[in-house]
Amino acid sequence: MTTFADLQLAEPLLRALNEEGYTTPTPIQAGAIPHLLAGRDLLGLAQTGTGKTAAFALPILHRLLTHQRRAAPKGARVLVLAPTRELASQIDESFKAYARHMRLSHAVIFGGVGQGRQVEAMRRGVDVLVAAPGRLLDLMGQGHIDLSGLEVLVLDEADRMLDMGFVRDIRRIVAELPRDRQTLLFSATMPRSIAELAHGLLRDPATVQVTPPSSTVDRIRQAVMFVDTDKKRDALQMLVDSPKVERAVVFTLMKHEANKVAAFLNDHGIVAEAIHGNKSQGARERAMSGFRSGAVKVLVATDIAARGIDVDDVTHVFNYDLPNVPESYVHRIGRTARAGRDGWAVSLCDAEQRAWLRDIEKAIGKPIPVVMEHPYHSEAAEKSTMRPPVLGGGGGRGRGGGGGGRNQSRSGGGQHRGGGSRRVA
Ligand code: AMP
Repeated sequence: MTTFADLQLAEPLLRALNEEGYTTPTPIQAGAIPHLLAGRDLLGLAQTGTGKTAAFALPILHRLLTHQRRAAPKGARVLVLAPTRELASQIDESFKAYARHMRLSHAVIFGGVGQGRQVEAMRRGVDVLVAAPGRLLDLMGQGHIDLSGLEVLVLDEADRMLDMGFVRDIRRIVAELPRDRQTLLFSATMPRSIAELAHGLLRDPATVQVTPPSSTVDRIRQAVMFVDTDKKRDALQMLVDSPKVERAVVFTLMKHEANKVAAFLNDHGIVAEAIHGNKSQGARERAMSGFRSGAVKVLVATDIAARGIDVDDVTHVFNYDLPNVPESYVHRIGRTARAGRDGWAVSLCDAEQRAWLRDIEKAIGKPIPVVMEHPYHSEAAEKSTMRPPVLGGGGGRGRGGGGGGRNQSRSGGGQHRGGGSRRVA
C-alpha cells in the first residue's frame, strides 16, 4: 500500500501528517499527488469527504518548500477558488495545519464582511490565497490584488461554483492570470459545463476519479421512523439525547423551523445552533466554530445553508423533515461517515412526507430500514397516501442561501389529500 513517504513529500509535511493522524493516503491523494508533484495539470473528480483538500494542499506546499521565493506585494503564488466562505475558511485551515512545520503566508478572502483586513493581509503578498470569486474580483478591480505572478490555480468544487453563477467571475479572474501556470480543477460531478471549463483552463491534464458517491453512502447506516408532525420534536430530542450522538446535523426544510427546533433542543438542555440564510455572517461563523470545537452538539440547518458544512466526526444526520428533492437526501446524509468513519442517518417521516420517502428510496435504489420500536411510531404516517405539499421554486439554487421556494410555508396552500400516491416498485 502507498504511504505518504512513498509519495516523496517533504519531511515537514510528513511530520504534520503524522501529527494529524493520517497514516495512508486516500485514493484521490494517492492518485493525484504524483501528477501534481510532477507539475501536471489535473482534473480531479471527487466530492468532499474523500480527502481532496490534502490532495492538492500537500503537493502545493511541497512546491513552496522546494522552490522558495517571496510573493510580490499584493500578489499570491497560489490561488484556490472556492464557492463559499465556509469552504474557503476550511481550505485555509487545512493549509495552515499541513504547513505547521514550515513558513507559510496565507490569506482568505470572501464577501459579507468588511474588506479592510483582507486588503491589509494582501498588502505584502502571500504564498497561498484562498478566495470566493466575487470578493476576489472586486478587490482585483480596486487594485488591491495583483495575480500576474501566480504559479498555481486551484478551482475547488467547480460544479458548485458554476451552480452558484460564478462562471463569469471565474473567467474574468483567469484572464488576469499568467498563462504559464499549473491548474487544478476539482469537481464532484462532470456536467458539460464543467467539461467545457476544464477544456479551456487545463493543459494536457491528468484525470483522477475516485469511487462514486455510492461507496460513501454504503457506509452510512440509514433508518426511517414514522412519526406524526407534532411528535417530531420529542422524537428528535429522544434521538439526540443518546450518548452515541456526539455531533449531529439536523435538517429542516424551512428556516423558521430550524430556529424552532434549535430553540426546543436548547430548552431541553441540548446545545444547538441554527444556521440558515437569514443569519448574519458573524452568527453563522460562531455557530460553525462552536460546532467544530464540540461546544455545540447539534447544528440545525436548511439545505442551502448546509452547503459549506465540511466537518469531520459528524456521527449522525437527522432529517427532521425529509427533503422534497431526492438528491438532497444523498447530499445531506453525506455529511456523516466521512474519511473512513461510520455514520448514522435517521429520517423522521410524517404522513405528508411519505411520498417523498418513496421518491428517495427509488433514487437510491433500495428501501430505507424502518424502526418501529419507539414511543412515537405513527401507523398513520407509515400508511399515508397523502400527496406531499408542493413547495414553490423547484429547489432554489440561489446564490445567497435564502432563495428559491424554501421560505414558503408548508400550510401555504399546496397540500392535497387523496389517493394517487406512487408506490415503490
Ligand atoms: P476533504 O475531502 O478534503 O473535505 O477531506 C475530508 C477529511 O478527511 C479532512 O478534513 C481530513 O480530516 C480527512 N483526511 C484527509 N486525508 C486523510 C487521510 N489520508 N487519512 C485520514 N483522514 C484524512
